[in-house]
Amino acid sequence: MKRRVHVLGTGGTIAGAQPDPGHYGYTPGALGVDWLLNAVPGLDRLAALTGEQVVNIGSQDMDDQVWLRLARRLNDVLASPDTDAALITHGTDTLEETSYFLSLVTPSCKPVVMVGSMRPATAISADGPGNIYNGVAVAADLGAVGRGTLVCLNDEIHYARNAVKTGTSNPSAFSSMARGLAGVTSSGRVEWFERCAPAPAAASFSVDGLDALPRVDILHAHANMSLDLIDASIGGGAAGIVVAGVGAGNMSVSAIERLSAAASRGIVVVRSSRVVSAMVLRNHEIDDDRLGFVAAGDLNAPKSRVLLQLALTQTRDLSRVQQLFIES
Ligand code: ASP
Repeated sequence: MKRRVHVLGTGGTIAGAQPDPGHYGYTPGALGVDWLLNAVPGLDRLAALTGEQVVNIGSQDMDDQVWLRLARRLNDVLASPDTDAALITHGTDTLEETSYFLSLVTPSCKPVVMVGSMRPATAISADGPGNIYNGVAVAADLGAVGRGTLVCLNDEIHYARNAVKTGTSNPSAFSSMARGLAGVTSSGRVEWFERCAPAPAAASFSVDGLDALPRVDILHAHANMSLDLIDASIGGGAAGIVVAGVGAGNMSVSAIERLSAAASRGIVVVRSSRVVSAMVLRNHEIDDDRLGFVAAGDLNAPKSRVLLQLALTQTRDLSRVQQLFIES
C-alpha cells in the first residue's frame, strides 16, 4: 500500500509566480498547494497525497502565531491514523528557523519533510517541482521515520538542526555545515547517511496551551557597536537576547557590561556568532560564569533564538538553559 503523505502549504518562492516566465520579479506565496502538486508529474507513483493550505506568505512574514498554528496542525495531522508522513512547502528565507522550531515541538516519529525552492514556480527551470518530488519520496521512505524534521532541497536531505541558508539565489542554497547531511536524493531515489539523533528528549517542548512565545531579539555585533539597540531591546520587553557576536561570540567591553547588567535583572543572554561556521564555547574568551551568559555552541543566531524562545516557556534558570543548548 502506498504511504499516505499529507501536504501543508505555507507559501514562499516555491509557490511564487512571475508576471511572465523569465521575468526577474515575482510574488511569493501566489499559488496554492493544489497547483504545486499538480505541477509535478508522477507524484502519485510515490505516495497517496492529500493537501491543505495553512497560510500563503513569503517566509519573511513567518511569526510566532503562524508557527504555533502550523505546529498544532502538524501535530494533529501526524496523530491521525490516516497519515503516515507530512510534507511542508515553505519559503527558504526562514526555513532554517521554522524547521528547527517544528523539530523541537513535534513528538511524533512519523516523517516531517520541508521543501522550498530558490526559483518561483513559473520560472524557466524552476527547482520547486524537483524538490517536491524528492521531498515526497523522502517523506514516504521508511528510513525517514524517527529522524525528526528534515529539509529537502537540491537533492540534499538536511536535519532541521543543521540546515542553514548559505546562498541567496543559486538552487544550492542550503548547507548542513560541519555536522553533515542526513542523506541525498536523486529523481525520487533516497540514500541515507549515518543516523544522527534528532531533538533529544531533554530538548522537547510542547506548544499545548501556548498562545504566544516569549520575545527574544537578535543583536548583531560589529566594530563600534552601539549600545542603543541593547537598550531598545530591553526597553521593548525582550525576555531573552541572542547576540550574533563577532568571532566566537565576542562583543565590545561596553556591550558585555550592558548585557551582563541585563542578565543580572533576569534577561537571558545567549552568545552565538555572526560567523557562518562557528563554535561558541563557554568561558573561552568571555567569562560566562561571572557575566551570567549562555554559550550557543554551533547553533547559529536564528536557531538560537528559536531554542531560547522555547526554553523560556519552561525556565529562566541559566544552567538549565545552557544544558538545553548543549543537548539541542
Ligand atoms: N522570500 C522567499 C521566502 O522565503 C524566498 C524563498 O522562498 O526562496 O518566502
